[in-house]
Amino acid sequence: MHSYDLLVVGSANADLVIGVERRPAPGETVLGSDLTVHPGGKGANQAAAAARLGASTALLARVGDDAHGQLLLEAQRAAGVDTAGVLVGGAPTGVALITVDPSGDNSIVVSPGANARLTPDDIRAAGSLLAPARVVSAQLEVPLDTVAEVVRTLPAGTRFVLNPSPPAPLPSEVLAACDPLVLNEHEARFILGDSAGDAPEDWARGLLALGPRSVVVTLGAAGALVADGRTDALVRVPSPKVEAVDTTGAGDAFTAALAWRLGLGQDLAAAAAYAVRVGAAAVTRAGAQESFPTAEEVSAL
Ligand code: ADP
Repeated sequence: MHSYDLLVVGSANADLVIGVERRPAPGETVLGSDLTVHPGGKGANQAAAAARLGASTALLARVGDDAHGQLLLEAQRAAGVDTAGVLVGGAPTGVALITVDPSGDNSIVVSPGANARLTPDDIRAAGSLLAPARVVSAQLEVPLDTVAEVVRTLPAGTRFVLNPSPPAPLPSEVLAACDPLVLNEHEARFILGDSAGDAPEDWARGLLALGPRSVVVTLGAAGALVADGRTDALVRVPSPKVEAVDTTGAGDAFTAALAWRLGLGQDLAAAAAYAVRVGAAAVTRAGAQESFPTAEEVSAL
């Protein structure tokens, strides 16, 4: 049986981007720039990021039987991802319709499409992918029931990493499996609600109290905060200073790198120290998957 450093279970989207001078009012039509189509979705982004770094990586996802699905599969293969677990059909490929105005602000409409049809049954049928993975990572752009089924199906000893994005209330069964829960400030505040507190250290302690074995809070240019529930140690991991061009996909690259390094046996602080370098490299280039670095580019940072 083929083994993987990382199996990513999650979404794959086509990002359809048009530049506009201004957004149309209801009933109005405006002309925009030529359309560009980019591979995206948090699952596909994580898988591409890990494979680009050299991790043996597989993706379990669902795309439509259409041109966008083909484009996403080709982008995964070009990055070096094993796509045998990508299911095809059942609904159109998920898309994000993105307009960008001259100030750089995005307005986005997401059609989850096939991502919403990745079911718990699909997870149960994918035992041959789950069993040989060192680490399984997931996000929340596929149904929460499906993520919960991943947790139930996980072989003993397989590490589970969750990025709860977009944030949603998490069942305790899912929280308890996370090692770590990886999230940014916005997601941390959502999950903690009014009791969040002001400092990342407060969020990390509050999140650990909800049951995950460990927590990693990403802090943009400030790097990350690592909290291990086994030792109660909190460690700040600074990010290298870089010229940020586009932060799209930085969190996905960070999480993929972290998950891979944990699977290689690094401890949480060491894995995060690598992941901040990968995140920093990703923000120096435009786009999501297009911006992800190779291991050589990370060492050169
Ligand atoms: P998200 O993209 O999910 O909001 P963050 O903004 O916290 O997450 O970014 C994730 C990681 O990407 C950070 O932990 C850091 O390593 C890297 N990163 C993001 N923005 C910058 C930046 N301006 N300079 C350096 N590294 C960055």
